[in-house]
Amino acid sequence: MPTHKITLIPGDGIGPEVTAATVKILEAAGKITGASFEWHTHNAGADAFAKTGEYIPQSLYDSVKENKVALKGPVTTPIGGGFTSINVTLRKKFDLYSNFRPVKSLPGIKTNYPNLDLVIFRENTEDLYAGLEVMINPDIAQSLKIITRKGSLRIAKSAFEYARRHGRKKVHAIHKANIMKLSDGLFLKCCKEVAAEYPEITYAEHIVDNTCMQLVMNPFQYDIILTENLYGDILSDLCSGLIGGLGLVPGANIGVDASIFEAVHGSAPDIAGQDKANPTALLQSAVLMLHHLEETATADLIQKALERVYAEGKTLTRDIGGTAGTTAFSDAVVAALSA
Ligand code: ATP
Ligand code: MG
Repeated sequence: MPTHKITLIPGDGIGPEVTAATVKILEAAGKITGASFEWHTHNAGADAFAKTGEYIPQSLYDSVKENKVALKGPVTTPIGGGFTSINVTLRKKFDLYSNFRPVKSLPGIKTNYPNLDLVIFRENTEDLYAGLEVMINPDIAQSLKIITRKGSLRIAKSAFEYARRHGRKKVHAIHKANIMKLSDGLFLKCCKEVAAEYPEITYAEHIVDNTCMQLVMNPFQYDIILTENLYGDILSDLCSGLIGGLGLVPGANIGVDASIFEAVHGSAPDIAGQDKANPTALLQSAVLMLHHLEETATADLIQKALERVYAEGKTLTRDIGGTAGTTAFSDAVVAALSA
C-alpha cells in the first residue's frame, strides 16, 4: 500500500482537538493494518490570517490540489459580517459539488429512533448558500438564489449512483417548488430526468416543511434525501438530532479533482479548548475518506472499534450523556482497535 498524502486542516474552536484525536486513531489503526499516512497541515480562517495575512493561504490550495484529499476540522464563520465562509470558499474553489452525509445510529445511544440509517445528498455550490448578496439601498438587502441545470443534474446523479452501488431503494427530492416555481422547479425537473435512468430506485418528491415534520414523526420512511444547498444544511442538523446530535454525523465534500472530508458540526466555541468535544463526527468523516482511498480494512477496523466503544457505553462524551473527555474517548477507541 502506498503512503497516503492527506492535507490536514485543523480549523478552530474544537477543530484542533477533534482533528488531533482523529489523526491519533488513524495512525494507531494504520500500525495494525499497514496503512500509512503523511499529514500535510495547513490551517485556514482567523488563525491562518493572524499568521499569514490570508484566510486561506495559497499553500493550502496548493496542498489540496496536489494531494486531492483533505481532512478538515470546522472553521468559524462570522455571523452577519466579517470574512466570507471559508467552508463555502473551499467548496467553490475545488467545485466540491456533492455533499454526502450518512445519518446512521450508533449502538448504545438512547434516542427515539433506534437503527435509523439514511443518507443526505446536498448540492454544495449554489442556491442561497452561495452568499451572492447586495444592499439595494440601506433598507433593502437582496440575496440571489441561483439554481442551475448542471448543478442539479450532477447532485442527482451522485445520489442515484450511490443508491445503485449501495443497494438503496428510495430517493426523495426535497424542495419548495410550490413557492419557488422556477428555481426549485428546475431542480425537481433535473431530479426527475435522472430518476428515469434508474428505474429500479423509487423516486418521490416532498416539500421541505412537510419533510421536517415527517422526519420527526417517522424518519424511517426516508432512505436517500436529495436536496439543494440550504435545505440540505438545515435538514442535516435536524437529522443529526435524530441519532444523538452533531457530535456524531460525518460528511464528505466530493468534487471532480479533490475531496474534503469534514463533520457536519461547526466549531462549537462554547466547548472549545476544554477537552469536551466528541470527535466521532470527524472520525467517521475520516472513515469515509479511507473508503474513498480504498483503505477498506483500515476503515472497517476503525468503525468496528468505534461501535464497540459505543456498545460498551463506558467511555462516552458529554454530548451523549457520558463524562469522558475528547482524549479519554479517543484513547478508548485506540484500545478497542486491538481488543
Ligand atoms: P456552523 O454555523 O459552523 O454550522 P453551528 O451554529 O451549527 O455552527 P456548532 O458549532 O455546530 O453550531 O454547534 C452547535 C451545538 O452543538 C453547540 O452547542 C456545540 O457545543 C454542539 N456541538 C457541535 N459539535 C460538537 C461536538 N463534536 N461534540 C460535542 N458537542 C458539539
Ligand atoms: Mg450548522
